[in-house]
Amino acid sequence: MPTSTQQPAPPLPEPLRVPVADSHTHLDMQDPSVGEAVAAAASVGVTTLVQVGCDLERSRWAAETAAAFPSVHAAVALHPNEAPRVGDRASLDAALAEIEKLAALPQVLAVGETGLDYFRTGEEGVAAQQHSFRAHIAIAKQLGRALVIHDRDAHEDVLRILDEEGAPERTVFHCYSGDAAMARHCAARGWYMSFAGNVTFKNAQPLRDALAVAPAELVLVETDAPFLTPAPYRGRPNAPYLVPVTLRAMAETKGMSEDALAEHVAANTARAFGY
Ligand SMILES: [Zn+2]
Ligand SMILES: [Zn+2]
Repeated sequence: MPTSTQQPAPPLPEPLRVPVADSHTHLDMQDPSVGEAVAAAASVGVTTLVQVGCDLERSRWAAETAAAFPSVHAAVALHPNEAPRVGDRASLDAALAEIEKLAALPQVLAVGETGLDYFRTGEEGVAAQQHSFRAHIAIAKQLGRALVIHDRDAHEDVLRILDEEGAPERTVFHCYSGDAAMARHCAARGWYMSFAGNVTFKNAQPLRDALAVAPAELVLVETDAPFLTPAPYRGRPNAPYLVPVTLRAMAETKGMSEDALAEHVAANTARAFGY
């Protein structure tokens, strides 16, 4: 994972006229306080945040933060890279039982980020990730929560396991990284695709091709901050207040006005997470 740098934070962008949500952020990994991050985002029309926990402790923190800030909702899970680190199968199952308890809290709207990450994962890690992914799918369905998927270099297995288990009614691919063919596959199943700052990168034409074919009714925007700062601010710290930069680039790719895309994104995010 890229680390945040000491470079100065990018300036506040021009505010959105139609407010939207950052569908995926990690406030616990950003320098400003939650109050500062929420206020900066709201000042440019990013009025709702989904705070994502990646291990048990951070999931607890996400739930506490969502309880304390009305505009913050929580998602809880063991990240796919965390699943193999928990220990043996019994420890993993014990941690999953704790995630299930957190997921039942009213301010927790989603189970995730879960899924598969084959970027630097050996065979044993893959087995733990797949077990964990299946368990998260079951929790989301049992509790009627949205499922937030992290899919890195694992498209085929993610799609296969979702079909084997049966995806929850509301399923979100965070930091969507598939191509246009996969976007059509997701669209046919009614799965949401959340685009992050990397859609603005010069070398990301395949991602823009995917966004171009994704139905406007299924598109979300996110920062995944502190990671994936959008162009032209690459290398500087990312934060929810930079959503307008990515959304404007997305509107251009889709040939839509900024307001029209923002209206879709606002409604889609509320529908996907159920708020
Ligand atoms: Zn992720
Ligand atoms: Zn994330």
